[in-house]
Amino acid sequence: MEVVLSVPFSYNISDEVRRLLEDFRDMVNFCIDYAFKNQITSYAKLRKDIYGKWKNRWDYSTHYCHSACKIALAILKNWRRRMKKGGVRCEKPVARKLFMQLDPQLYKFYGDRIRISVKPRQFLFIDLKFGEYQRRFIEAWMRGELKTGEITINESKIVVPFKKYVDLSNPSDWIAIDVNESNVTGVSTNPHLLRIDTNMREIKSVYFEKRRRIQRLSKHRPLTAMRLLKKYSKRERNRVKDLCHKVSKRIVEFVVKYNFGIIMENLKGIRKSIHYNRILNRRLHSWNFRMLQFYIEYKAKFNGLPVEYVNPKHTSSLCPICGGKLAPNGHRLLRCDACGYKADRDIIAAVNLLRRNPRCGESPLPPKALNESLIEVRGKG
Ligand SMILES: [Zn+2]
Repeated sequence: MEVVLSVPFSYNISDEVRRLLEDFRDMVNFCIDYAFKNQITSYAKLRKDIYGKWKNRWDYSTHYCHSACKIALAILKNWRRRMKKGGVRCEKPVARKLFMQLDPQLYKFYGDRIRISVKPRQFLFIDLKFGEYQRRFIEAWMRGELKTGEITINESKIVVPFKKYVDLSNPSDWIAIDVNESNVTGVSTNPHLLRIDTNMREIKSVYFEKRRRIQRLSKHRPLTAMRLLKKYSKRERNRVKDLCHKVSKRIVEFVVKYNFGIIMENLKGIRKSIHYNRILNRRLHSWNFRMLQFYIEYKAKFNGLPVEYVNPKHTSSLCPICGGKLAPNGHRLLRCDACGYKADRDIIAAVNLLRRNPRCGESPLPPKALNESLIEVRGKG
């Protein structure tokens, strides 16, 4: 299968690039206007209808017309969807941000710089800034292991998607990963333990407090409160994203080292389920589980390792040995009434997940004490 990993590079914008971005935004709005007026939703029809008119106004390479049509239709589609939900007040969408998408025919990637075709036989060169993370992709690309896809350019970044064909191998061992509010715990079939402590809860509670204070302010100064709320939401989102990246990176480094397949909880639809208890719901809201799972999944797949999801129901309340009911027994510990098995509750949850995957079967129980692979990953507080 083909897997894609998008890697951002920063760059210094020049006047030429800015002009190109502004012109591209005009092209997108031109396409939006036309498609909106003539109620066109098909890409082929829009491109065919608009090409002549576009050519009269701009003398850029033809591919810019294709790309502008595609983005215009995506913006319109998104706008109609929001319209249906009743969240839109403007009568027609407008592209405001400066960005463009270029397919491989419009640019050439050289590793440390990019050449963009502007007009026939006229090019722009952009030097890319990169660190250790980007360098690894450039080197793999130089060795011919990766191909680049459609790039996105905005005022400060160029996002390059690297594509790779991987054969999702059948790993000999699997690791189940349980995410909870203070850590990430993995138990593998060989057996092996991985525990990553995070400060996600700390980050969440800091912003929870901030929001509460702002809400008190909103009675007297509603506009300031709104502005602050927006600012802190954005900052919180960035912190969470950063932490998810760091945690997923450590997990994937670990699974690559041991060649593990990954098993995680299938969380789809869980928030909607009324049968699920309040505590679990709170747990789900307190961590961006789906974001973390998504990062783990694509990074693992990029390394050729399979990822599977299993139903998480009762994984933290039933005994992995006899299926009996578990009761709390000391700090973060659970004990089975029927057979006496006692272990850390996060380890139990991961063992149960592991055993739900038919391929793992009766995998051996991990050591009860956490003595291996304890890692702490902290996001900015
Ligand atoms: Zn038991």
